[in-house]
Amino acid sequence: MPEEKRTNPEPRFFSPLRDPEDLTLRPVTLDAFIGQEKVREKLRIYVQAAKGRGEPLDHALFYGPPGLGKTTLAGIVAREMGGQLRVTTGPALERAGDLAAIVSNVEKNDVLFIDEIHRLPAQVEEILYPAMEDFSLHIVVGKGPLAKTICLSLPRFTLCGATTRLGLLTSPLRARFGIVEQLSLYTERELTLIVLRGGRALGVEVLDDAAAEVAKRSRGTPRVALRLLRRVRDVAAVKGTGVITAEMADRAMNMLDIDPEGLDEGDRRILSTIIDLFSGGPVGLSTIAAALNEDTQTIEDIYEPYLIQKGLLERTPRGRRATPAAYACLGRAIPFSSVKTLPLEDEKC
Ligand code: ADP
Repeated sequence: MPEEKRTNPEPRFFSPLRDPEDLTLRPVTLDAFIGQEKVREKLRIYVQAAKGRGEPLDHALFYGPPGLGKTTLAGIVAREMGGQLRVTTGPALERAGDLAAIVSNVEKNDVLFIDEIHRLPAQVEEILYPAMEDFSLHIVVGKGPLAKTICLSLPRFTLCGATTRLGLLTSPLRARFGIVEQLSLYTERELTLIVLRGGRALGVEVLDDAAAEVAKRSRGTPRVALRLLRRVRDVAAVKGTGVITAEMADRAMNMLDIDPEGLDEGDRRILSTIIDLFSGGPVGLSTIAAALNEDTQTIEDIYEPYLIQKGLLERTPRGRRATPAAYACLGRAIPFSSVKTLPLEDEKC
């Protein structure tokens, strides 16, 4: 039997929002979004102004470590603008045709969210420029001397790009975003509120001190906090009464090998490699990655932001260096060389 031919292939939208529990946990308004005060305030103004003019929101780029709420903010913007969120990723758009199929399906006020936008192939990026600037799509049909360019006009949509690597974005692409915002790691207080809100959304009772315990060990990241909350919920359901207490939280964290500082096995391996194999550093990122059999991007994006925020790791021009706090954290003696000498009393300025 001949294979059925797909005449109208579905565009390559993919949605990380399908997990029903994740949908419940995701805030859908700017008011429900906890933390990132400045970004939230600016977005509130830009959205209100764009709505007042009857225009789509300017294209927006969010950058920062994974799990901080970039996709969530794009969804909130879409909702506030009265459009739909369409989600795809840079690496999924291999050919210009993939992007053409997607942008020709967006509707007015929709938000097209491209995650990992720094990984868009060059030929795809080129057709994105006119789509962003003039809402027009330039498609080349045919080859050689018979090739011609067809211009299609698109509905006025907003492109939301997300990246963990702002530096890897080409400057022409970066310049086409009217709004560029950095998301930073959350405070323990903000994460406590996120855990309490998550508990309400999941229908489980979370005590305040338990929420604080989960927050403390969440690496400043809401995605981690909510993931831990779900695991604590499992432990509380099986080993306790279902109520999430600090004791249940502590028990679950120990089971997951997350220490009271919020460090997991991966963090401790990075620090002990720098301390034990490279005398505390400075040592280059690629050398650490090779020693750990890990890739440099994972270390830079997933582990380093938190280790730096905790004051356990330093980035120096000569490489990464473990701080005295890292030695203390791993229970190692602090070497004399890494103790900063204090000026003598009469040398003080
Ligand atoms: P990113 O796109 O930056 O990787 P996401 O937007 O997918 O991160 O967020 C990861 C998870 O964390 C989602 O489940 C989302 O609901 C939750 N989350 C992120 N930021 C917040 C926030 N400020 N308040 C509440 N939940 C949040």
